Amino acid sequence: MFVYIHVPFCSNICAYCDFPKVLYDKKYIDRYLERLDEEIDARYKGEKVGSIFIGGGTPTSLSYQELERLLKLKDKLCLDSDIEFTIESNVECLNEEKIKLLKKYGVNRVSLGVQSFDDSVLKDLNRHHTGADVFRVVDMLKSVGIFSISIDLIYGVRDDIDIVRDDINNFLKLDIPHVSCYSLIIEDNTLYGVNNREYIDDDIEYKMYTFISNTLEEHGYKHYEVSNYAKEGYYSLHNINYWDNGEYYGFGMGAVSYVNSNRISNTRNLSKYLKGDMVDSIIYEDKETSMSNSIILGLRKVKGIEVLEFNLRYGVDIINLYNIRELIDEGKLVYKNGYLYIATDYYYVANDILVNFV
Ligand code: SF4
Repeated sequence: MFVYIHVPFCSNICAYCDFPKVLYDKKYIDRYLERLDEEIDARYKGEKVGSIFIGGGTPTSLSYQELERLLKLKDKLCLDSDIEFTIESNVECLNEEKIKLLKKYGVNRVSLGVQSFDDSVLKDLNRHHTGADVFRVVDMLKSVGIFSISIDLIYGVRDDIDIVRDDINNFLKLDIPHVSCYSLIIEDNTLYGVNNREYIDDDIEYKMYTFISNTLEEHGYKHYEVSNYAKEGYYSLHNINYWDNGEYYGFGMGAVSYVNSNRISNTRNLSKYLKGDMVDSIIYEDKETSMSNSIILGLRKVKGIEVLEFNLRYGVDIINLYNIRELIDEGKLVYKNGYLYIATDYYYVANDILVNFV
């Protein structure tokens, strides 16, 4: 089983962010941690846990004592010996003391929200760190023995490919095994959305995408999912389970669980969550919905869907579903060596293909 714990607090709100989050306010933290504790007690059935992912928000925006209380929640779970234990952090939220605390509680993977190394882009995004800070924090993580480090990058904030080149070169200098690269998405209820910010030109964005994937592949990073690249052995287990449409618990405000064919969505409203009114909806997924999700999520992986496994799981032949045969004939999907996957040339427009299966 996989466990996701959501901590919605952030020390500042980024201009593009659409995640369930609120500004850090000390008066809510203890109550939030109590509710998390209660939610785990109420819903967790004692399954062996192979991965914990604490995301947000910014879990490390909590004070040292609050963070320690959060990390202690892992003692409520029955853990595999070789568990992947990830925490998300912003660069400016980590110091030596907090990093040692993460290490003490068994965190072995840190996902850093970097977005860019360019200080003017960071300002535009309303991020509160500098490019130089990233190098300092990565060195601190390595010095306590946390080497499984990932960073998030956003491209397309400006229409300047040189910024993307610098970002990727700086990432390579960090010598860490994982990076997620997202194109900027402008959501309505964000500062960028409200200010009617416009997207950069499609062709320039495509050049950026091509530069990123070619350069990372040349340097030994495998493009293993639409937006994710990693050295062999460092793929995110937590995310792979998600793309395999596997089961997982999601605890915390706005978190989603997938257990016994039920998709359980928690409220995105902090005061409701704090009152204990946690669940917003429970939707039972029938076979058709589950198949659709398995295809949409599975095709996000570069290696695609293992056809035999899919066919055994659902008792159907995937090739006969939807317009899959037609998409293979058009060269958009490939069926080879037992896997069904999106053809490399169509990877950039993966979402246009995935809508066929909604
Ligand atoms: S992007 Fe991350 S740090 Fe920024 S507001 Fe959203 S959750 Fe918080």
